[in-house]
Amino acid sequence: MLNALHAGAEASAVVKANAYGHGAAEVSKALSKAGCTTFFVAYAGEGVIVRDAVGLEARIFVLNGPRTEDLPLYESSALCGVLNTAAQVELWFKGRVKRPFALKFDTGMNRLGLPTSEAGALTDAGTDLPPALVMSHLAYADDADNPMNSRQLEAFRGVLTCFPGVLASLSNSAGCFLGPDFAFDLTRPGIALYGGGGHGVQPGITLTAEILSVHDGRAGETVGYGATHQLTEDTPLATVALGYGDGFLRSGSNAGFGVLKGARCPIVGRISMDLITLDMSAVVGKAQAGDHVEFLGAAAPLDEQAAQAGTIGYELVTGLGPRVERTYER
Ligand SMILES: *Cc1c(COP(=O)(O)O)cnc(C)c1O
Repeated sequence: MLNALHAGAEASAVVKANAYGHGAAEVSKALSKAGCTTFFVAYAGEGVIVRDAVGLEARIFVLNGPRTEDLPLYESSALCGVLNTAAQVELWFKGRVKRPFALKFDTGMNRLGLPTSEAGALTDAGTDLPPALVMSHLAYADDADNPMNSRQLEAFRGVLTCFPGVLASLSNSAGCFLGPDFAFDLTRPGIALYGGGGHGVQPGITLTAEILSVHDGRAGETVGYGATHQLTEDTPLATVALGYGDGFLRSGSNAGFGVLKGARCPIVGRISMDLITLDMSAVVGKAQAGDHVEFLGAAAPLDEQAAQAGTIGYELVTGLGPRVERTYER
């Protein structure tokens, strides 16, 4: 779908942080089967996992850049460096890493990237190869009207004049929706692959939890640690096997929700390590132990559930822990 958005540009896949908590090996394998040939990770160690999953054809770039102790992995797992600082450029060439690399420039994010003013000097930096890719990163792509986007676009175009014919990449997921000017040769969607970031992208994940107990709470009683929720009337409750030990953030206590049979059931009381209690008033008599309640998915949008926990979808999904049992549909 993201490929179709911009004819001519290729969508890569950002699979850092264990593919945003979804499982880097399985997700990369599925995307590779679906035709994806370029992957981005943050660490060389993550790159090794993706390489083992996708075979030798794909290109895998390491966003955080090379570290001395990782240099052998670039050769042994055929990884591509992303050079973000003068020190990384020096390390890469002194280490004689015979692998393709990208140069990443800072066009306004002030996070990680070479100064745009260095672009000219880097074209003749004594390198054996031209870079395989020149890239930058947008700070405010989720606000299409923000003038920062066009400022960064202009700065990036300026950098590219120093690298004629080299592939270029600017946009993350949100950037994919800023129009064809931002597409260049390669886009780098992450969260959109997993159903976050809005724009009607289909959810890539469904998180469900099993009901362990259905019981009735009486008016005046409280629910959970710290007695933070008091029942104002007799209330059907259900307790499910999910908690902050799974990465379902405790800050969603008394705020988030589960969905059973299409009905939203509010989280009542504190989320504990392994358990969450829900108010089942919306599905009286229909909830049973063994039923699965949806916490993320089509009926429980990632960004909305995250907002209830005071965060963004990125933090919620990347935090889903190893205890969450994962099954893959293709
Ligand atoms: C994480 C990351 C992405 C992906 O961002 P999303 O907002 O998840 O699409 C793209 N490019 C870089 C440099 C990143 O660090």
